[in-house]
Amino acid sequence: MIEENYKDVLENIRIACEKSNRNFDDVCLITVSKTKPVSDLKEAYNAGSRDFGENKVQELCDKIEKLPDNIFWHMIGHLQRNKVKYIIGKTKLIHSVDSLRLAKEISKESAEKNLVTDILIEVNVAKEDTKYGVLVEDTEDLIRQISVLPGIKIQGLMTIAPFVQNPEENREFFHELKKLSIDIINKHIDNVTMSILSMGMTNDYMVAVEEGATHVRVGTGIFGKRDYNIE
Ligand SMILES: *Cc1c(COP(=O)(O)O)cnc(C)c1O
Repeated sequence: MIEENYKDVLENIRIACEKSNRNFDDVCLITVSKTKPVSDLKEAYNAGSRDFGENKVQELCDKIEKLPDNIFWHMIGHLQRNKVKYIIGKTKLIHSVDSLRLAKEISKESAEKNLVTDILIEVNVAKEDTKYGVLVEDTEDLIRQISVLPGIKIQGLMTIAPFVQNPEENREFFHELKKLSIDIINKHIDNVTMSILSMGMTNDYMVAVEEGATHVRVGTGIFGKRDYNIE
């Protein structure tokens, strides 16, 4: 079932790429495995997945131990500063940086280990009160401040769109994140690239791909519904 789902999602990404004249190889499917047991991750791995997304530091570290070491791990959830030290050097990308304080902690821990940690800036495009992320109008400022820190490199932007019935309702938010990334590219800020746009989840990843997502984060669409009660 997981293998079938995984392949279906890839096929849908292929369709969305064709529809928008994009290259399928330019989109990375991140398998969001939070709350799922290691056996499920192994099934996804065997289906071909090499990028996994987790939202809790402890769970991420536990799973890294138990799975093959050719997996790229993505931290996609809100990150507390006191937990940063546990994941530095273990992640391919931290998607959820939305404050200078957090960036400084990542910078400090990375520089101590002589590493450069790749990050994305999480933008609250839809201005939802319940969501983390910096507002569109504050993004450039935050990027400028983070760009001068050692041990950290901004590779792009991430957003979590609202939960909606019709994914078309989120198209404008994906479009706006893409536009913001182009505005930032045009500022030519040192040590900043906008090569990654992480947007789109189970409900709306095809629309996100059509609007330029380079990374989509899909959990339910691969593993089925999450049961938070068994955590
Ligand atoms: C849980 C989660 C996802 C995956 O959500 P699904 O709707 O299950 O695909 C994607 N991104 C983030 C940040 C998440 O926390």
